[in-house]
Amino acid sequence: MSTPHEIPSYLTPRDIGPWGVYLEQIDRVTPYLGSLARWVETLKRPKRILIVDVPIERDDGSIAHFEGYRVQHNTSRGPGKGGVRFHQDVTLSEVMALSAWMTVKNAAVNVPYGGAKGGIRVDPKTLSQGELQRMTRRYTSEINIIIGPNKDIPAPDVNTNEKVMAWMMDTYSMNMGSTVSGVVTGKPISLGGSLGRQEATGRGVYVVGCEAAAKRGLEIKGARVAIQGFGNVGGVAARLFAEAGAKVVAVQDHVTTVMRDSGIDIPALQKHVAEHGSVDGFKGAELVRDRNSFWEVDCDILIPAALEQQISEVNANKIRASIILEGANGPTTPAADDILNEKGVLVVPDVIANAGGVTVSYFEWVQDFSSFFWTEDEINQRLTRIMREAFSAVWQLAQEKEVSLRTAAFIVACTRVLQAREMRGLYP
Ligand code: NAD
Repeated sequence: MSTPHEIPSYLTPRDIGPWGVYLEQIDRVTPYLGSLARWVETLKRPKRILIVDVPIERDDGSIAHFEGYRVQHNTSRGPGKGGVRFHQDVTLSEVMALSAWMTVKNAAVNVPYGGAKGGIRVDPKTLSQGELQRMTRRYTSEINIIIGPNKDIPAPDVNTNEKVMAWMMDTYSMNMGSTVSGVVTGKPISLGGSLGRQEATGRGVYVVGCEAAAKRGLEIKGARVAIQGFGNVGGVAARLFAEAGAKVVAVQDHVTTVMRDSGIDIPALQKHVAEHGSVDGFKGAELVRDRNSFWEVDCDILIPAALEQQISEVNANKIRASIILEGANGPTTPAADDILNEKGVLVVPDVIANAGGVTVSYFEWVQDFSSFFWTEDEINQRLTRIMREAFSAVWQLAQEKEVSLRTAAFIVACTRVLQAREMRGLYP
């Protein structure tokens, strides 16, 4: 017989990867959970993990195999929900952590979902469009048994987009024998996608950024902003801050960093990236080859919008921003959190800052069920309201308990999840 809290073998205890970071965040919130702490172990192990082999025939006739995952961390409050990532560094630890952060995020903004995430360890830039489509369809077929509009609803994440979602929706529908648009969100508008979804995460980052700036007495007009990651999240956030009069002084992507003290022309940079796949070679700013200097740039607002664990004890001390908006999931390690808190930097955690995407995904799912579609204005208004309310509730709790915004967001979210767990009771 196993002991009550024996750790399953795949949950490498305290590994320093993203799952280890998540476990430490849960440890930090546990003292604030009162009698619900009895259930906290629920949050420390995913409900369901599926590892799949994804074989495809390459264009040259050879066969390639990729490893894919879908993890449903928790479904106490509703179906699993979370993106699918295609990246060469995807690991089970990463997908587990991302699925857990989805549980926390969905509860923090109070959308009726649990948390899930998926991924394939692949560099999609090495695949042709045909290969990418075959891999996406085979992966979808492999995870078909656990996804569905009432079970688990994937969405885009790093290196996946509306085209990939269209293939996933079509593959699931072909397997089911009828068109099921609500199985994924982030679809093209013509397939039941929602207006505003593509921009929603970046817009949410901007909305909470304005709230945080107001708390710090910082004017957005003229504020200096630095952004790591210039994709769906970072690119949109950059544009919205620039449109509001902020100066985007540094942008870093997977290839290089560009800086311009007087502010980068963001539409021009977006055009360059659309044509060349990277900020590299952009003529309107200085190219900076030393990647680490990005973290030392003179700025008011820093937006990590790329990958996990970018801000650690190695660079946290060098950061000059007074506000960090976590566009990415898990960009800050717990050790860095401590350093930043000590320095008085206001960190708006991922589970609030980037929740705009899943919020509009929720709107998309609701619209698909009712086959009645809203205007972009309605969507942006509702999104703004939800983001502001979530920020304000977390801010207030942080003041009351004298904790960081991250701990406060985790208190709000974990309380909701564990209350649901307790009310449902254990079966059998
Ligand atoms: P994306 O694929 O559109 O863009 C990723 C960007 O990060 C690209 O500009 C890429 O060049 C850059 N990048 C990759 N590796 C990097 C590195 N090592 N250093 C610097 N830059 C690097 O992805 P996205 O959808 O914008 O997602 C970015 C982050 O936001 C991820 O952490 C994701 O989980 C999170 N997120 C995305 C959404 C969404 O709706 N897309 C929602 C919530 C959170």
